Amino acid sequence: MQMTSTPPPQHGPTDILIIGGGPAGLYAAFYAALRGLSVRLLEARPELGGQLAALYPDRVVYDVPAAPAAYAADIVAQLVRQLEPFDIDIRLNTLAHTLEADGAGWRVGTPGASYSAGAVILAAGMGALLPRLASNAHSLTDWPPSAVPAAPSAWIQGGVPQATRAALELAEAGTRVTLSHRRALFRGTPAQLSRLETLRQHGQIDVHAPAAADFAPVPPADLNIHLNGYLPDLSPLLPWPLGWQGEYVPAEGSGLTELLGVYVAGDLSSAGGAFKLIALAFAQAALCANHAAHHVRPELRVKPGHSSDRRITPKGEVV
Ligand SMILES: Cc1cc2nc3c(=O)[nH]c(=O)nc-3n(C[C@H](O)[C@H](O)[C@H](O)COP(=O)(O)OP(=O)(O)OC[C@H]3O[C@@H](n4cnc5c(N)ncnc54)[C@H](O)[C@@H]3O)c2cc1C
Repeated sequence: MQMTSTPPPQHGPTDILIIGGGPAGLYAAFYAALRGLSVRLLEARPELGGQLAALYPDRVVYDVPAAPAAYAADIVAQLVRQLEPFDIDIRLNTLAHTLEADGAGWRVGTPGASYSAGAVILAAGMGALLPRLASNAHSLTDWPPSAVPAAPSAWIQGGVPQATRAALELAEAGTRVTLSHRRALFRGTPAQLSRLETLRQHGQIDVHAPAAADFAPVPPADLNIHLNGYLPDLSPLLPWPLGWQGEYVPAEGSGLTELLGVYVAGDLSSAGGAFKLIALAFAQAALCANHAAHHVRPELRVKPGHSSDRRITPKGEVV
């Protein structure tokens, strides 16, 4: 826990504050909202989806229940779709880094603000998935950016799926794109790679691969984008007094950590042992959200009952 010398802007409290927008965080957000709770979610990256979006959006996942052979990006899209009826406050590009007691609940600090809640659900996975630094300080290092820049020309370096995606999105917006990678291999779904080839053939994307990145002259471009992948960073959370066991936070079966009102789900939880699976993240998220619901509103039972006995209206009311 840390104290800031100048108090940052404080935001109104919510019942639940979730840290991390991967499968565990997204599903915890859904379940907490289903229980009628107010929910805020902080995600360090510019988009939701955790490892699925950052590390392998182009890979087919076979072991997610009821989603046979689905691209990781499509699993994320479905998780986000499940949140649509609800009024969930999602803060992207927001890194949680402090935790302090706040009355009966908790207050989480970010570099620019602080957020209080009756209960916190930690769903931070391996840590904040932050882009590897680019050699060129003036480059964009993640995709999507907060606002897609309108640039006549762009030079994109990298073979990660985000590089292919950036090339396609910019080319389709009318930017003259050069895509460069040291290997003659780009990652993306078959549809993205086929579109890349079509745009290359039509001269809308100039592909340099394999390219000797260190020696090749950088073509003059209005926008430079280096997409070198992501490294997980747990360091903002490690000072939190959670009884860490290496990179894991120990938890009871309910997901409760050593701190009353702070729960943990997904890869960060010790509960799954060495199993780092999306299916486990979902199960742990459901447990956390329902126990947290009872914690912040004791009149709510822990057990949620069956969603099939209810109806979610388009306005997010559960009747
Ligand atoms: C290449 C690869 C392939 C995989 N294939 C499969 C598979 O086929 N099947 C399967 O079941 N599992 C697979 N997995 C594992 C699966 O992706 C993880 O188990 C799952 O993503 C865990 O979800 P999570 O929500 O706990 O964590 P994550 O997905 O890691 O999400 C955590 C999120 O929290 C954010 N975050 C962290 N710290 C902070 C902070 N301080 N402030 C704000 N935000 C923060 C991160 O940026 C991240 O977005 C694979 C993993 C990899 C790397």
